[in-house]
Amino acid sequence: MNAIAKISRDTLLSWLGQVMDPEVPVVSIVDLGILRDVQWTDSAQNSVLVTVTPTYSGCPATEVIAQSIRDALQARGVAQVEVRTQLAPAWTTDWMTQQGRDALRAYGIAPPASGAPRADGSLPIDISALTSGKVVVPCPQCDSRKTRLLSQYGSTACKALYQCNSCLEPFDYFKPH
Ligand SMILES: [Zn+2]
Repeated sequence: MNAIAKISRDTLLSWLGQVMDPEVPVVSIVDLGILRDVQWTDSAQNSVLVTVTPTYSGCPATEVIAQSIRDALQARGVAQVEVRTQLAPAWTTDWMTQQGRDALRAYGIAPPASGAPRADGSLPIDISALTSGKVVVPCPQCDSRKTRLLSQYGSTACKALYQCNSCLEPFDYFKPH
């Protein structure tokens, strides 16, 4: 008889909550919202299927993340881990948890504005809204709202480079999409 207690899905989720995003190492894949599902695929609990949606298709970090997931679960005794990539529906910054947004800010990256459409129906990702100053991105260092866009692209394509007019620190803004 196999006396090993059943491992719940919540336990699997808590293990995966310790897997960090390689580009933003303070935010877990759960808080980033790229982990879509995890489930046992057999009653004996030998194999797990993990479904992830990368932040954008072709993201080079995807394979790094998949390996981190396999490592994290296999280190806890899961024999087989399959990581499946699901591209639709596409990941959106709205899937990021509040905890993830707080961790981003603490790391010095301004978290994405809510993805809710504005009154005219456009989304905040609209670059013209960024450049025209319609979107206020508070400084993650001093919380000043007097910030300006320096470049549409920051350290990666998914971030924009801003500078704070109060503390003069440049910072990345995780663009909503
Ligand atoms: Zn500042």
